[in-house]
Amino acid sequence: MPEGDSVWKAAQRMRAALVGRRVVRSDFRVPQHATADLSGREVLAFDAYGKHMLTRFSGDLTLHTHFEMDGAWQLVGPGKRLPSTFDDEIRLVLETDGPTAYALRMPVLELLGTADEPRVVGHLGPDVLGEGWDEDEAVRRLGADPDRPVVEALLDQKNLAGIGNLWAVETCYLRGVSPWTRVRDVDLRAAVRLARRMMRHSLEHAGQVTTGDTRRGRTHWVYGRAERPCRRCGTPVQFRDSMTGAPYSRETWWCPSCQPGPVPSLTERPTRPGLRRGVNEESFGARGRRLRGEPGLNRGR
Ligand SMILES: [Zn+2]
Repeated sequence: MPEGDSVWKAAQRMRAALVGRRVVRSDFRVPQHATADLSGREVLAFDAYGKHMLTRFSGDLTLHTHFEMDGAWQLVGPGKRLPSTFDDEIRLVLETDGPTAYALRMPVLELLGTADEPRVVGHLGPDVLGEGWDEDEAVRRLGADPDRPVVEALLDQKNLAGIGNLWAVETCYLRGVSPWTRVRDVDLRAAVRLARRMMRHSLEHAGQVTTGDTRRGRTHWVYGRAERPCRRCGTPVQFRDSMTGAPYSRETWWCPSCQPGPVPSLTERPTRPGLRRGVNEESFGARGRRLRGEPGLNRGR
């Protein structure tokens, strides 16, 4: 599940492989750009902003991609191609005078003028992993709606960009607050610093680990651990399909004993423990979910 740090890592990988290369052939397999042709253009940059990626080409052209739950960039070496089993998933082939890049399952893939980039990323709050990270502004935006549940505020990319569900629920756990604690009752600066520290750590290490324990099944405190014992107190981890109908609708996990605070009533926020039974962080991910026929997550940008 792409979060800001995964997109950042992908941008770093793509940058190393493709910046300075010239496009030899492009093949857009999305209707709105079916006739677009990038051949002859130089790849100038791959920039991550929150969960968005901006690929810039010579001639003031930018490719905007958003991974949402399932998108990915795949690289293959010069002269190689992806196996045909991927054909249905390919949205763009970008063949260069070096490696070839494939955009797979990318739900957002659009070309725009480089000068128009603010149209697609201008609404976002400070980028948690960005060079110009502005903690004061992020805290100000988070606190602007004091009655909002903290998990929802952390996921709102207009407050700060890059935090996904994993980091949001783990931050709530480590700060000892229920995900539905109102932001006015949360030390927002401490929460933001913690989330950022974990995400920055993730940039330099494999996987997304919040417990400090990289062993399989030990990497998270509550995320993906419905009904399993809390690692600190043994209380079964609770799960809610949170915020039904709200724009930042996500599954939420928490330990009711380590994270005191408000919890929405079941009539407002239906729980679906039966669907999640046995689901843990190893079997998580959009692919596994699709294979098991489980419902998808609502999407938030
Ligand atoms: Zn606990």
